[in-house]
Amino acid sequence: MLATLSNIRTVEDMIVAFEDEQHCRRLLEGMVWPDGRICPACGCKRSMAIAGRDLGKRRARPGLYQCSSGDCRFQFTVTTYTPLHATKLPLRVSLKAMWLMLQSDKSLSSVRLSPRLSG
Ligand SMILES: [Zn+2]
Repeated sequence: MLATLSNIRTVEDMIVAFEDEQHCRRLLEGMVWPDGRICPACGCKRSMAIAGRDLGKRRARPGLYQCSSGDCRFQFTVTTYTPLHATKLPLRVSLKAMWLMLQSDKSLSSVRLSPRLSG
């Protein structure tokens, strides 16, 4: 996950990389599930996308999956059980924030290593 984020070097790259919500979701899914989707409730590796399916009045959220395990049927997204889920922010905002935090970590440590300039 961090490797993917640290491949983005500049703010311009970051803005382009995280511009599209669907793209952000695919990026994040690739980071969270490098070997394929895993149900966060039971660990089952079989699940199906239910995005776009008509669920009556409520439209399914994009990136919503349902576990295929018979007695689980847990519905989840890539952010289920992660702090990102609790923020309710668009992924493109969350990913940008994560990237900025990573960058500030790096710059903080380099600041500590170098003599402080005054003025
Ligand atoms: Zn499951």
